[in-house]
Amino acid sequence: MKIIRFLDAHGEHLGRQHDDGRVTILEGDLFGPLRDTGHEATVEKLLAPLEPRDILCIGLNYRKHAEEGGRDAPDTPVLFLKNSGAVQNPGDPIVLPRVLASDSVDYECELAVVIGRTCHNVKRAEALSHVLGYTCGNDVSARDWQRNGGGGQWCRGKTFATFCPLGPALVTTDEIPDPNALTIRTLLNGEVMQDWTTSDMIFDVPTLIEFLSASTVLRPGTVILTGTPHGVGFARTPPVFLTAGDSVTVEIEKIGSLTNPVIEEVVVGRSG
Ligand code: MG
Repeated sequence: MKIIRFLDAHGEHLGRQHDDGRVTILEGDLFGPLRDTGHEATVEKLLAPLEPRDILCIGLNYRKHAEEGGRDAPDTPVLFLKNSGAVQNPGDPIVLPRVLASDSVDYECELAVVIGRTCHNVKRAEALSHVLGYTCGNDVSARDWQRNGGGGQWCRGKTFATFCPLGPALVTTDEIPDPNALTIRTLLNGEVMQDWTTSDMIFDVPTLIEFLSASTVLRPGTVILTGTPHGVGFARTPPVFLTAGDSVTVEIEKIGSLTNPVIEEVVVGRSG
């Protein structure tokens, strides 16, 4: 099932996106029983499919991406976190920061895993049974703050407001039995910048869940961003960074397309 979260004239709903484009309203809880009411809805605004509890992110999880950044493939998954306030809706803008200014904001297409059941010391073989579904993510990254000014941590550069677009739909696991068999792409203003497959992850999704839940609790609503393939902007010659007026699309097979325009932050109350 493709589940969306949206606003209509009556408020916020979960809905089932049908193949013919219709949306019917779902009743219940995303992490509990959900019932399709059959009532057709008019989507006025699409929201990110969930408000994540926690956002765990994996760096350097594709071999050629590690190479393009001049890094060795890691021995264990590289973990960092994003603030849940960074989540952005499909269609809403990625905002280039101007209070803590960055001039090197980059895109990263990523498969986003949505945990459906509490995970604690989950073994690889059972890991996927704890997944509710998958969506598209963009791990937007201010490379200057990622490298400098973050005390050696990546979090500062990765967690500015709007730096975690998610969507458009959460696709449940019955439609994606193998999350490591999907094509994944980024298009910048229509030009393909990243074009690869999730089969090339160094640590596949079950391995990541085993690692991340080891001696650790992952609660329902945790989102795992699973890393990006090669083709990011900073590694290009010359580098390509996002500028106001751009449009960025993350596309993942069987899930859909997540598009966000790019604008600059408006700094209120500042004068020359
Ligand atoms: Mg990333």
